[in-house]
Amino acid sequence: MNKYSYKKIKKKTKEVKIGGLGVGGGNPVRIKGMLKSSLQDKDNVIREARRLEREGAEAIRVAVEKRGNAKIARILKKNISVPLAADVHFDYRLALDSIESGFDQIRLNPLNIYRKKEVREVVKELKKSGISLRVGINSGGFKKDFPDAESIAKEMVKIAADYLNIIEKEGFFDIMVSLKTSSIDSTFIANKEFRRHFDYPLHLGVTATGPFLEGIVKSSLGVGMMLSSGAGDIIRISLTGPSWQEIRIARYLLQSLGLRSFSPEVISCPTCSRCNVDLPGIVDKLRKELSRLDNTSLPGKIAVMGCVVNGPGEAYQADIGLAFGKKRAAIFKKDKIVGWTDENNALRDLIDEIGRMSWK
Ligand code: SF4
Repeated sequence: MNKYSYKKIKKKTKEVKIGGLGVGGGNPVRIKGMLKSSLQDKDNVIREARRLEREGAEAIRVAVEKRGNAKIARILKKNISVPLAADVHFDYRLALDSIESGFDQIRLNPLNIYRKKEVREVVKELKKSGISLRVGINSGGFKKDFPDAESIAKEMVKIAADYLNIIEKEGFFDIMVSLKTSSIDSTFIANKEFRRHFDYPLHLGVTATGPFLEGIVKSSLGVGMMLSSGAGDIIRISLTGPSWQEIRIARYLLQSLGLRSFSPEVISCPTCSRCNVDLPGIVDKLRKELSRLDNTSLPGKIAVMGCVVNGPGEAYQADIGLAFGKKRAAIFKKDKIVGWTDENNALRDLIDEIGRMSWK
């Protein structure tokens, strides 16, 4: 296998639905979130699910760990409108409970639910209810060591293929697949290899990426590499951190790769000694202001730059922007300065200018 071949995979995936959400086929790359609150604390669960929906999660996964847990679907359905996926391990009856309780997708792990009779029973119920399945293999479930990234990737693809064979024999094809490890190498090789042979949509992610900054870098690099090579239909960013941050990072990642547009993109400079204002604070305020406005009438790219010396030139690809100078700020469009404003009113004037123009 050629580990890092970026030759694009052209084969199109089939469309599989999670509730009303189309994944694969001609659909944009979707974003999945995961609930982290204890299911015992219903208020927290609802609060977290609403936040995930607001941030842009298009499907939400819930760990159904023990009998009785699946009922949470009924509560969530009354409070949010995004589809729900039940994450099931070890006990196939949890999948049956989840189907009955109204989940829109079931995830089975071939490493811990592998008896053919049990798998067939779940598939029979999925078929009856029109619910899709994710076959999710996570390297954390292996009880042996592998000498290198290729070996673990090869094993994961083989296990997925054998499992799919059992399911397909039941005449069931509403399936997506995930092959995750905590290493970018093996995750990349496994997904790319799987994609070469199957047209089922791929749920992408790198698992157990670590705390905040490490997690962002590892997830973005791993998921970004796979998406760039043409593999991936729905993504889940995994962080040791709040679940809403995972959604925001997923959006930024897809936007950075030009795969989705959650307009507008804010471009800001890293600052240097030429910058005399609190640029991070100004960017934060700008984001808050933008979140209150109608996205459909905003420019695609807005820049906030620390100085007029290099600002407009560095952000030439922005539709509109601010570049700060001594006590004042320039408003620029593309790389041309179109007006000046007082430093303290700069943000307000920029928002007003954005509102005055039609950007679509
Ligand atoms: S735009 Fe100006 S302040 Fe910002 S990094 Fe570039 S030179 Fe420094």
